[in-house]
Amino acid sequence: MMELVVATRNAGKLKEIRRLLESQEIKVLSLDSFPDAPEVEEDGDTFASNAAKKAETIARVTGLPCLADDSGLVVASLQGRPGVHSARFSGADANDHSNNCKLLEKMALVPEKQRQAAFCCVMALCLPEQPTRLFEGHVEGMILSQSQGDGGFGYDPLFWLPEFNCTMAELPLDKKNAISHRGQALRQVVEYLSTVAP
Ligand code: IMP
Repeated sequence: MMELVVATRNAGKLKEIRRLLESQEIKVLSLDSFPDAPEVEEDGDTFASNAAKKAETIARVTGLPCLADDSGLVVASLQGRPGVHSARFSGADANDHSNNCKLLEKMALVPEKQRQAAFCCVMALCLPEQPTRLFEGHVEGMILSQSQGDGGFGYDPLFWLPEFNCTMAELPLDKKNAISHRGQALRQVVEYLSTVAP
């Protein structure tokens, strides 16, 4: 069975990625199995550059195939912010709650019709002796003016999905994976892996 290190310490992401890979005969290892792995600084301007940097660094340190995700929320009325800074939007000690509060504060005066946003994800796959490959997904929605639902993680309780008439935090994990930015990117990764490691 193929072993794949998933280069994230975000428990919410890891849960979603594990769920999608568990049926694929891929053994997912998290960074918990590599306590000495370095913290990779996400200092790139794009999701792609951060994801590639994480995947390449962790593949080099562990000597194993590695998958890294860089993702975030892109809000039209905030000129694309928080974008690559989504995890630390409210500062160095940010958590989901403080980030959501900051988002609501920044959007307090934005009218309902102008609250468009998207979740974006780039997955970088680094396999031995191969160039890093990138896979992308994105999902569009609207930012609510108060939280709704307690599933998922991050900005999910504020992210309204008009076609489903609920927030991302109100979808069960399998449904979120079926439509989410991360699910879209990950299904492309699985398809690619099936061509190189049948
Ligand atoms: P990073 O990719 O580790 O830099 O962080 C991504 C950040 O974007 C997370 O900490 C969340 O704040 C946000 N984010 C990414 N994907 C999701 C999602 O599926 N739901 C809610 N928030 C997300």
